[in-house]
Amino acid sequence: MHIPFCAHKCHYCDFNSHARAPIPWRAYADALCRELAHWAGHPAYRGRTLASIFFGGGTPSLAEPWLIARVLAAIRAAFPCSHDCEITLEANPDSVSAERLAAWRTAGINRLSIGTQSLNDRELDWLERIHDRQQALDAFAHARAAGFANINLDLMYGLPEQTLDDWLDTLNEAIALEPEHLSCYQLTVEPGTRLARMHNRQPLPLPNEEASLTFLFATRKRLAEQGYRAYEVSNFARAGRHCRHNDAYWRYRDYLGIGAGAFGKFDRGDRGAIRYGNLRGPERYMRQLHETGHAIAQQEEIPPRLAAAEAVWLGLRRTDGIDCRAFAVRFGATPWRMFAETLAPFAARGLLDHDAERLRLSETGLALADDIAAAVIQAAR
Ligand code: SF4
Repeated sequence: MHIPFCAHKCHYCDFNSHARAPIPWRAYADALCRELAHWAGHPAYRGRTLASIFFGGGTPSLAEPWLIARVLAAIRAAFPCSHDCEITLEANPDSVSAERLAAWRTAGINRLSIGTQSLNDRELDWLERIHDRQQALDAFAHARAAGFANINLDLMYGLPEQTLDDWLDTLNEAIALEPEHLSCYQLTVEPGTRLARMHNRQPLPLPNEEASLTFLFATRKRLAEQGYRAYEVSNFARAGRHCRHNDAYWRYRDYLGIGAGAFGKFDRGDRGAIRYGNLRGPERYMRQLHETGHAIAQQEEIPPRLAAAEAVWLGLRRTDGIDCRAFAVRFGATPWRMFAETLAPFAARGLLDHDAERLRLSETGLALADDIAAAVIQAAR
């Protein structure tokens, strides 16, 4: 469920997020419920049981709590949910309060993902975040006090002039809070952002490839020491606390995307898939929903071999890699057989581990995950 509104557009952000004042919450909630009704009747999704629900953004925590409650009620009316359905809300520290937390809990949110990014005020300032370190710490404490027992902290490294010690200070302080999950991503300069324009005018002192790997491996080492398993390249969790929602993407499962700019994907019945994306602008999204009952802006047919390549690309991000037997049942052959010519050179360099059961990146292969993925996708096109 995509909530595309933010109080301020951060310069590095390439998510579908829009600063609006006032935010048209009622009209947006109407549109979400209308789109939900559309997809609930679609043959690809009708009657399917939801294993997870994710309110992402944008800043879902900005939404009036009644909106979250109303949309969750509509989801439950439209689809069966598993008894242990993971229901996540992304929250920014500046829009977390005891009242909102209580309302989210009552509505059924059982997992919180807090956009902390850093616990250093200078870095938060540079990132144009509108919260400070103390607000981030308070948000976590309030969430615990409200009874949230499954919390993720989003953190970012590789900021200009950030030293490894600066980063480890934030990481250690985050670990001391004892969250169940940590997502640690490197800052990237995404095309089309204000940051990209700044970088083009005057190159930013960002870490080179070698320094980036130092950050990555130091992060993995520190979190492993503290009992967090790296179950994906950038995601770390206590036992049993991995994010089921994101893990479903990496397992190439079907998902339903609702809201402005949301994407969804479903099997098309011949080992291929269909992916669709909604209109990105909130006003156009709401207008089109009102007129036609859906807001699809683009739809892509993914033939079986390309779907298999995408499943390899995403599956290799998981530490457990790809279950080769399940893959063969789904796509007709193991990933190794389908993409032998492409994968063999990487395996020969020690970047991939494989046997009859699993195909996965080796520790050294982690650094080249994107190159391997690009080669497999290229081979399928
Ligand atoms: S708060 Fe998050 S979604 Fe909103 S602009 Fe900043 S980075 Fe983007």
